[in-house]
Amino acid sequence: MAKIIDGKAISMKIKDELKEKTAKMKSEGINICLAVIQVGNDPASSVYVRNKKNACKYIGIESLSYELPEDTTEEQLLELVEKLNKDSKVNGILVQLPLPSHIDEDKIIESILPLKDVDGFHPQSVGALSIGQPGFVSCTPAGVIQLLKRSDIEIEGKECVVIGRSNIVGKPMAQLLLRENGTVTIAHSRTKNLKEVARRADILVVAMGKPKFINKEYIKDGAVVIDVGIHRMENNKLCGDVDYDDIIESVSAITPVPGGVGPMTIAMLMNNCVESVELQKK
Ligand code: NAP
Repeated sequence: MAKIIDGKAISMKIKDELKEKTAKMKSEGINICLAVIQVGNDPASSVYVRNKKNACKYIGIESLSYELPEDTTEEQLLELVEKLNKDSKVNGILVQLPLPSHIDEDKIIESILPLKDVDGFHPQSVGALSIGQPGFVSCTPAGVIQLLKRSDIEIEGKECVVIGRSNIVGKPMAQLLLRENGTVTIAHSRTKNLKEVARRADILVVAMGKPKFINKEYIKDGAVVIDVGIHRMENNKLCGDVDYDDIIESVSAITPVPGGVGPMTIAMLMNNCVESVELQKK
């Protein structure tokens, strides 16, 4: 029987550990503060921002909220980031993506001080990950590593295949699996014989943004499957990039959607906020 990896329970455990750590830090006079910036009022972004603020509240992290109008200019946003970069009270800065199309996202990400880049998207954070230096790691792939470790799934020496090569999921995911001594293959839309490549995997991480794409023809018997994808179906239910019902008999462990990778992203963001204090001290 396949083990269902419970991301909800694991993320809750991480949040409780962080809550304890934060309380101890507070007793030593150390406060943690995250600045969250949202431009415009995209409903999905508003939900994400609200969830992040709630997680901060639960853990004991102060959150500063900046809700800016849709017509905020790039210059105004850059000014705000600069102000927060200089504010020694602020440990982390998060700019909720996507930004309105008149604002250059890359420029904004690059304006965040790498020491406060708790999303791990700054080129310096990305570079640090690839050469093994300290820095923030993108939250979703960091969450996947926690799911594997806390489910006692060994990565070292395993054939790991990541489907997807985005900057925020696929690429950092591959780097992190490599850091854990996995043997890593990255597949993407130009990969030939995707089924064959995927079937090599002891650990298959799917982040392709295609609802229920991966069926049992892509799975080696007994593989561990991590489904990063998240889609809302016509019946309003959520599904992943993996056809869960089709592959469940073939896998040794799997993350469900919802309740798998999803809840880990915010938990790891909170973890980055707590770690920011250590990093900034150094
Ligand atoms: P993305 O930027 O759209 O990247 C998708 C990747 O999949 C690309 O590298 C693309 O290849 C590859 N791909 C697409 N079709 C493919 C195919 N037929 N065969 C092989 N590779 C294919 O997506 P993303 O931002 O990485 O997100 C991926 C999924 O994860 C989405 O469903 C997203 O909603 C979800 N997500 C979830 C969380 C969470 O917290 N759970 C966080 C982030 C994202 P090319 O590079 O060649 O185009």
